[in-house]
Amino acid sequence: MGGTARLQHRIRRPQQEPIASQQQVTDDGLRHLAHQLGERVKELNCLFGISEIVERSGGSLDTILQETVELLPPSWEFPEIACARIELGGREYQTDNYASSTWKLAGDIFVRGKRAGVIEVCYLEEKPGREEGPFSAEERKLLNAIAERLGHVAERLQTERLLHGQQQELRERLTHLSRVSTMGEMASNIAHEVNQPLTAISTYAQAAKRLMAADQVSGSYVMDVLTRISEEALRAGEIIHRLKDLVRKRGSSRERFDVNRLIHDIEQLAAVDCRLHDVQLRMVLSKSLPPVLVDGVQIQQVVLNLIRNGVDAMEDVDHEPREVVIRTIQRKEGEIEVSVSDRGCGPPDDIGDQLFQPFFTTKDDGLGMGLSISRSIVQSHGGNMWYARNPHGGTTFFFSLPATSEDDNDSQ
Ligand code: ADP
Repeated sequence: MGGTARLQHRIRRPQQEPIASQQQVTDDGLRHLAHQLGERVKELNCLFGISEIVERSGGSLDTILQETVELLPPSWEFPEIACARIELGGREYQTDNYASSTWKLAGDIFVRGKRAGVIEVCYLEEKPGREEGPFSAEERKLLNAIAERLGHVAERLQTERLLHGQQQELRERLTHLSRVSTMGEMASNIAHEVNQPLTAISTYAQAAKRLMAADQVSGSYVMDVLTRISEEALRAGEIIHRLKDLVRKRGSSRERFDVNRLIHDIEQLAAVDCRLHDVQLRMVLSKSLPPVLVDGVQIQQVVLNLIRNGVDAMEDVDHEPREVVIRTIQRKEGEIEVSVSDRGCGPPDDIGDQLFQPFFTTKDDGLGMGLSISRSIVQSHGGNMWYARNPHGGTTFFFSLPATSEDDNDSQ
C-alpha cells in the first residue's frame, strides 16, 4: 500500500505543478492568438467588403469611396475611437466623426503611377502603443493594401469611362455615316422629287406670264396660280427640310413620339424611292398606339434602311405584287412592333443572324452596315430586331420598341 501511495505521490507532484503553469501560458497564448485571429478576420472582412462595394457600385467611384471610408474604423483594433478619411481626385470622403489627430496611419493612393490621393485612419485619443505607435504592422499593411486596391479601381474606372466615351462617339459617327450613305443612295430619287414642285412652279409662272402678256388674265386666276405656286414651293421646302433633318450630324436625344407619326414623316421620301423602282409602298398602321421614348431620327433611319433593303430585294423580281408593307401593332402590353415586309428574293439560305453582322453584304455596291446599325439603334432603345421569311416569298423584318408610361422622362 505504502509503496503504491508513494508512487502516486511521486507521480502526482511532478505532474501537477507544470500543468498549472502551462495552463496559464496556454490560456494567455490562446487569448492572444484569438485576439490576433479576430483582428486578421476583421482585416479580411474589410478587404472582402471593399470587393463587394466595388461590385455593386455600378461603376460609381463616389459610392465606392464613401462606403469604403465607413468600412475602415470597424476593421481597426480600437474601432470606438477610430475615424477615417479618403482623398482622391480632388474629392474628399470621411466618416462623420473624422478629425485629424497625432495618432494617424496614412497611405498614398497612386493612379497610373502618380500620387492621386491619400487614405488615413486616425485614433481620436491615445492608446497604449507599440514602439511605432498605436497601430500594428498588420494594420499598416492593410491600409497600404486598401490604398493599392483603390488606386487600381480608380484606374480601371477611368479606363472604362474613356472607352465608353470613345465607343459612344464611334457609334454616333457610324450611325451618321450610314444615314448619309442611305440618303446618298436615295439622292437621285430625292432630287427628282424636289424637281417636280420646282417644274410645277416654273410652269404655273410661265402660264401666268403668257396670259398676262396677252392681257387675258382675271384677278381670280392670278390668285389661283399664286396659291398653287406657293403650295408647290412649300412641298419642295418640306422635302429639303426633312432631308436636312435626317442628314444633320447631331447628338442623340430622346423624346416621346407616336411611331405612326415618325413613319408618316418619312413616307414621302420613301415613296419616291419606291416609285422609281416600280414598287408600291403600303402602310398598315394600328390606331392609338401608346407613345415611345426614342430618338425620332434614328428610328426613321431604321425604317428607311429596311424599306431600302426591301426595294433592293425586289430589284430582279418580276412577279406581282411588287410592294413593301409597313405595319405597326401593339402585340403585347408595353411593346410596339414595327415590321417592313417585301416580296423580294429573300436572304441567302441558312444565313441566320449573319445578316446583322457589320460588313455582311451580298450587294455589289453594299456597305453591309445598314442592318447592323439598325439593330444596335433598336437595342439601345431597349427593343430588338429580327426577321422571318414570308410563306409566299420575300422577307419581313421586325423590330420592337418599349412603349413609354407617363412616368418616363421626356429626355435622356
Ligand atoms: P447592305 O444593304 O449594304 O448590303 P445591310 O446590312 O442593310 O447592308 O444588309 C445586309 C445583307 O442582308 C444584304 O446585303 C442582303 O443580303 C441581306 N438583306 C437585307 N435585307 C434584305 C431583304 N429585305 N431581303 C433579302 N435580303 C436582305
